[in-house]
Amino acid sequence: MPREALPSLAAGESIRWIPRGGGNSFSDCAFLSEGLTLSSDGMDRILEVDPDRGCVLCEAGVTNRELFDLLERPELQAWTLPVPGGTGQVTVGGAAAGDIHGKNHPARGSYGNHVKALQMLTASGDEVWCSAEENPDLFRATLGGMGLTGFIRKVRLQLVPAPGQALHVRTRRIPDALRGILRFFEEEPAELQMAWIDLAGRRVRGVFHFSRPTSRPPRSPRRTLRLPIPRIAFLNPWTSPWINLAIYHLHANLDRVVRPEEAHYPLDSIPGFQKAYGPRGFVEYQFLVPPERAEEGLRSLVAATRKTPAFHCMVKRFGSHPPPGMLSFAQEGFTFTTLFAARSGVFEVLEELTERLIPLEARFNLTKDSCLSRQQFEQTQPGLEEWRQVVRRWDPEARIQSNLSLRLGLKPW
Ligand SMILES: Cc1cc2nc3c(=O)[nH]c(=O)nc-3n(C[C@H](O)[C@H](O)[C@H](O)COP(=O)(O)OP(=O)(O)OC[C@H]3O[C@@H](n4cnc5c(N)ncnc54)[C@H](O)[C@@H]3O)c2cc1C
Repeated sequence: MPREALPSLAAGESIRWIPRGGGNSFSDCAFLSEGLTLSSDGMDRILEVDPDRGCVLCEAGVTNRELFDLLERPELQAWTLPVPGGTGQVTVGGAAAGDIHGKNHPARGSYGNHVKALQMLTASGDEVWCSAEENPDLFRATLGGMGLTGFIRKVRLQLVPAPGQALHVRTRRIPDALRGILRFFEEEPAELQMAWIDLAGRRVRGVFHFSRPTSRPPRSPRRTLRLPIPRIAFLNPWTSPWINLAIYHLHANLDRVVRPEEAHYPLDSIPGFQKAYGPRGFVEYQFLVPPERAEEGLRSLVAATRKTPAFHCMVKRFGSHPPPGMLSFAQEGFTFTTLFAARSGVFEVLEELTERLIPLEARFNLTKDSCLSRQQFEQTQPGLEEWRQVVRRWDPEARIQSNLSLRLGLKPW
């Protein structure tokens, strides 16, 4: 999208629109069936770099991978990305609007905790800056606000100090994930932690990954797998137990130093991984529950996967960092992300699962959700009324809308 065209499109008479970044979200948050989708594609300039303070100002379409490339510069070797997320294709605008999290939430919080300021194009077509000091209400409504407060044009991001760009990654097997998975997060304190759980086999087991930044040199980069992904669903109830068995054995007791992209973005090395579930694809589902409800949450999830197929899940811990945005997803607890094969009946099972999780004080990630009803969303989203009051002032005609905001009734005015 040409930079110059944006203001007139945004301010155009009675046109509804939604911003879009790299299109990596799994929900209906980055498109609008009856309106304009304004893309940050091509807005990829790094505008300022301050190596002394570790601060970068860039346009919204710059991706995490481009920022990692920038960090190769000798003067930036002492800094790294605070919250790299799970794919290098995410843009800084999409990361701020989704307030994304990584495997290091207890250490670093979520993305918005490191955003110093945003330059926005609002619903009226005006250009405004917002930060903790300037237009703070707009700032807190935008971080995690799913693009519904305006188009982010520029992001000023604070990097974090690091001893080097590489990560020392280690793993341990989890023989029985239903009993005591949480203790692994206690026993292996590390900056990054994540558990992969096998849901395809009879035994619910997994692999715990933990890593720390290091100044040691990384091993040479792994070759990208350029295997053609067949049009058939090669991840299915017959193949998955065997594939997971191989993952369980191959990933147990690793101990190696890798480049950060290799540790943070394993799926980026399998282009077209989304096709592994076949032409009908999958439904991504992510929830968060408080620490004391985590084992119950996992049991409910496992029960659902016995009714409709899902083959593995990822578990992360979130720490007590204050959520930077009014709608921020990440807050203290454990989060579970699962890909359910898209087949008939899956939404009924997810509806039932959601109803079981709500009494556990569960919350749901809007960048992944395609199941919640408006009522369920309102029940589980603290901060919604405050967000609505602020956003109504900046977008009184509710011109910025997405399919997600219409489905969940985010702007009821
Ligand atoms: C393989 C993979 C792994 C992932 N792992 C993680 C993870 O570990 N943690 C996590 O939190 N998420 C994860 N995600 C989800 C992803 O990080 C988020 O959905 C992120 O918001 C996508 O950013 P994007 O640039 O692709 O934006 P899009 O998907 O295009 O948009 C996402 C939202 O941001 C808004 N938006 C985008 N650009 C702008 C802008 N310039 N101005 C205003 N609003 C904007 C959109 O309106 C939309 O609401 C993963 C996704 C994939 C594909």
